[in-house]
Amino acid sequence: MLPTQSEMLRRLVATPSVSSPDARFDQSNRGVVDLVAEWAADLGFTVRIEAVPGADGKVNLIATLGEGVDGFVLSGHTDTVPYNAERWTNDPFELTERDGRLYGLGTADMKGFFAAALHAVARFEPGQLRCPITLLGTADEESTMAGARALAEKGENLGRYAIIGEPTNLAPIRKHKGVFYVRVTVGGKAGHASNPALGVNAIEGLQRVLVALLSWRDGLERRHRDDDFEVAAPTLNFGRVAGGDSPNRICDECTLDIDIRLLPSMLANEVLMELRDQVASALDSGSWSFDVRATGDYPRVFRPRRCRLPQHRRDLVRMFS
Ligand SMILES: [Zn+2]
Repeated sequence: MLPTQSEMLRRLVATPSVSSPDARFDQSNRGVVDLVAEWAADLGFTVRIEAVPGADGKVNLIATLGEGVDGFVLSGHTDTVPYNAERWTNDPFELTERDGRLYGLGTADMKGFFAAALHAVARFEPGQLRCPITLLGTADEESTMAGARALAEKGENLGRYAIIGEPTNLAPIRKHKGVFYVRVTVGGKAGHASNPALGVNAIEGLQRVLVALLSWRDGLERRHRDDDFEVAAPTLNFGRVAGGDSPNRICDECTLDIDIRLLPSMLANEVLMELRDQVASALDSGSWSFDVRATGDYPRVFRPRRCRLPQHRRDLVRMFS
């Protein structure tokens, strides 16, 4: 007998699964995966629990109901962010009802999804499925994405459609912008401020780069647009500039960190190549060296941008609400 949704959620919340780049807070997600795996098995799912390479104590859950290909995926992450106990009005690991709401660490983001997904699947007769349903529970979404990365590297075809149960205030979101960070480093040559001819000032090189990238950004905005997004254009934010050590020295190195948000139709590699070309031509007439690379970071807090769901897909979502 499957526990009720709130009983499932109570047990999931009571099982800590904090993930954090800070080892003092980082925990295994095995307990949460074991619970979901047990309930999925009771519903007839074939359950796999796979260790995530390079992440000690972290596992992914891949549970499949039915046979065939091109199935339907219900995807969630099993970890939570760390917490500040003193800022909670109840024990974060004890599901507490107040004013018709349930409070507990990871209730909305996103342990509640597993309880909802399992109960949604329980309505189907497994023998009547025309394609398989796969329930995914990944590790470390809140920290390194190690779980999702391990799945992506395996390249296994998990299904044709997916619902990712992230909290969005119940507004269906069907597209997401991509994000990556780029670091531009301009190299010059140090020297004394009294004789500019003896050095190459990296800050002056970066100034040329900034002018070129601002105009390139305007072009990107003109070329790419998707009105489904609140911010319809791709964005390019110059977030950090660092370089130099003293007013009386010629700066020999200067870096610029950029946050780029792509529309679904854009490819990160192509954008990075265009950006590199812009930097190269901006510095063409001087003696600067340069380096342009994606730094592989991603923001911890990333707010999805709303976009409307076409009518014909709303039925699918209603099934799970
Ligand atoms: Zn989440």
